[in-house]
Amino acid sequence: MTASLPARLTRDLTQPEPIPAEGRARALELMETGRLFRYGELGADQLDASLFEDEFAAFMGRKYCVAVNSCGCSLFLALKAVGIAAGDPVLVNGFTLAPVPGAIAHAGARPVIVEIGSDYLIDLDDLAAKARSSGARVLMLSHMRGHVANLERIAALCDELGLTLIEDCAHALCASWNGRAAGTFGAIGCFSTQTYKHLNSGEGGLMVMDDDDMAARTILHSGSYMLYRQHTRRPPDAVFERWKGVSPNYSMRMSALAAAVLRPQLAVLPERVRRWNANYTRITDGLRQLQLVHVPRRAAEEAFSATSVQFSLPGLSADAIGRFIASCATCGLAVKWFGDEEPVGFTSAPRHWTYIDDAAPLDRTHRVLAGLCDIRTPVSLTDSDCDAIVAIVRHALEGLQQESLNQGGST
Ligand SMILES: *Cc1c(COP(=O)(O)O)cnc(C)c1O
Repeated sequence: MTASLPARLTRDLTQPEPIPAEGRARALELMETGRLFRYGELGADQLDASLFEDEFAAFMGRKYCVAVNSCGCSLFLALKAVGIAAGDPVLVNGFTLAPVPGAIAHAGARPVIVEIGSDYLIDLDDLAAKARSSGARVLMLSHMRGHVANLERIAALCDELGLTLIEDCAHALCASWNGRAAGTFGAIGCFSTQTYKHLNSGEGGLMVMDDDDMAARTILHSGSYMLYRQHTRRPPDAVFERWKGVSPNYSMRMSALAAAVLRPQLAVLPERVRRWNANYTRITDGLRQLQLVHVPRRAAEEAFSATSVQFSLPGLSADAIGRFIASCATCGLAVKWFGDEEPVGFTSAPRHWTYIDDAAPLDRTHRVLAGLCDIRTPVSLTDSDCDAIVAIVRHALEGLQQESLNQGGST
């Protein structure tokens, strides 16, 4: 007997939210004047990018914000700001997105990948061991899919090991550990405004920091020319004097247009986070009822802002997971999988990044990623969409169990 087919998911999980009307109006105004470049002959109080940097720094409670063209570039610029040079080792956790090791390679540095645990979080013993064996001075910690590890312990461990912490918060805006925001523990916090993150300008990146030298270097590196006084939040001129000539212009600015559509999105963020998290809780509560599914418990200290749901199918073969994903797809549910043979869409894993010359075997990471599935959960999901997602997953897993009964074998 096979369970009856669940209702097809009609919601398009790739559909983003519209840009708030105020942002659309300002974008139109900018297009009418043609002033799309972030700098100009106008005062800083009329420059959208400078205004947004000021607002985002205040939102995060940090001294400086520099707006750039992507989070991947912001990670590259962060490495430059902390003085990483060609050939330097940089530690990074194994559950992350391709632009993160890509940013390390972009800086000419060498990614050293640290194991993760079954909770998807960085393994602190392996971090300490690899920090010592590699001699790395920097940890680029990726809060992948918004999963935030114990940042208090990590910050203390970084102090002990002489590591500068850079946080990849591409998916962790509004997340926190023990009441303190992700992106404020490290020397620099990096955020993405790519369409499928918490703020959407198509492409874009934001960097927050407190250190004067790092801020001046980042502003110059990002491509300010000698227009850096058009940043409302900037270190004193004397700091720029130190870095002017020696900091290459990498031309990674955010455009005025991107900043204009981002500015009104900050105000709607808290309500969106509430809805994202309500959907996350409803879906994971449902998934936890299912045999074969493991959803890691999140620490009480972690406040998250989940734009997607992750779960593991630890007992299933690659073949069975492939069939599970195909079955979900026939019901309109796109499930992404970190264990696939070949990278698909946005999803890839350390074993796919063959440019990394890293001898470490990463057995634990590969084992965890082999069963790790991922579903995007846009803010527009209703309760019944969430229930439909759970029903489709249940049906696909029941199908696998039925098959294995028929074959008298195991899944
Ligand atoms: C999206 C993402 C990035 C890259 O952001 P872009 O703005 O697309 O360059 C980096 N890290 C993580 C964890 C991401 O999800």
